[in-house]
Amino acid sequence: MGSYLYLQCGDSMSTNTKVHEVRWNPLLRQWIIVAGHRGHRPWRPEEKGFSCPFCPGAPETRNLGEWDVIVLPNKFPALTMNAPQPTHGVAGLFRARRAIGVCEVVVETPSHEGDLCDLTLDHAKKVIDVFTEEYLKLGSLKPVKYVAEFRNKGKEIGVSLTHPHSQIYALPFIPPRIRCELKSFRNYMRRRGRCLLCDIINLEYREKVRLIYENKHFIILLPYFAMWPYEVHVYPKRHVQALPDLSDEERFHLADALRVVTAMYNALFDRDLPYMMVIHQKPTDGKDYSYYHMHVEFYQPYRDRDKLKYAAGIEWGYWTFTYDGVPEQKARELREACYRALKKLNQYLGQVVAIG
Ligand code: ZN
Ligand code: ZN
Ligand code: FE
Repeated sequence: MGSYLYLQCGDSMSTNTKVHEVRWNPLLRQWIIVAGHRGHRPWRPEEKGFSCPFCPGAPETRNLGEWDVIVLPNKFPALTMNAPQPTHGVAGLFRARRAIGVCEVVVETPSHEGDLCDLTLDHAKKVIDVFTEEYLKLGSLKPVKYVAEFRNKGKEIGVSLTHPHSQIYALPFIPPRIRCELKSFRNYMRRRGRCLLCDIINLEYREKVRLIYENKHFIILLPYFAMWPYEVHVYPKRHVQALPDLSDEERFHLADALRVVTAMYNALFDRDLPYMMVIHQKPTDGKDYSYYHMHVEFYQPYRDRDKLKYAAGIEWGYWTFTYDGVPEQKARELREACYRALKKLNQYLGQVVAIG
């Protein structure tokens, strides 16, 4: 509470680690979450001799009984439902709003090591079910406009805890990347009367060269317009907007697809590959998004076995991407990695797409 007085006194904001708000960037027209307290979150506690907070028996999980998948509040939330009202930035160019929302952690397994591909198919399906339930639960909160569900893996990506987990940010705004996609889908639907992604899927099937794996309900591919090395997308074949639209059988097949992508990534260079997995679903502000088609995107940090790809001047500074290599060639490498991965997976529901 002292922090507001601090601000009202006109003191320097930069020294106040309790600043917690969203600030509007008028140049890029997007919200930035400012969370002073997150600067102090611990980095890899188990490397410093502390126990893992997500392992069974840790104080965080002690009273939960037997569990396969659990949802915990993020201990260093970027957003909270009781976020303070900023005392500045109510009007004018420097605008601030409450950092209202929810940040959760989905601990995917009691076991400390591993990846989605190390879970059984049934277990991975439970993770999808939890994503589905949380999307509905958090999305129904009044101030929540978007439920961002994602998974970071590996030191290189900045993951501070190794225990297999995903994250959920229930946001008070629609994130810019989703706004951009929504606009494209809406315009395409208006002009052609069809879904943009359904048409892309049809084209990819016709050209075939970038397809990697498919099961009954999902397709894994490296998109024609990939902007990042070994970028992989997972598309539901049916036109659906969010996880709750999927049937139980479809969620089972999504679990299969996500296991296959992660196993394929590990097979690519024959070692544990870090990655980001992001689920793109419709916003939860109650408006009509029937033109949208949900999907999952994967990004990993290497452009070659030992070479990291950086988002540097041209990428970060101009949002202009150069693809080091040819997407169709990279898709072939991934298809070969997928064959190797399937040999090791004890259970899977589809097959590598055979290219003529
Ligand atoms: Zn652990
Ligand atoms: Zn569609
Ligand atoms: Fe997307």
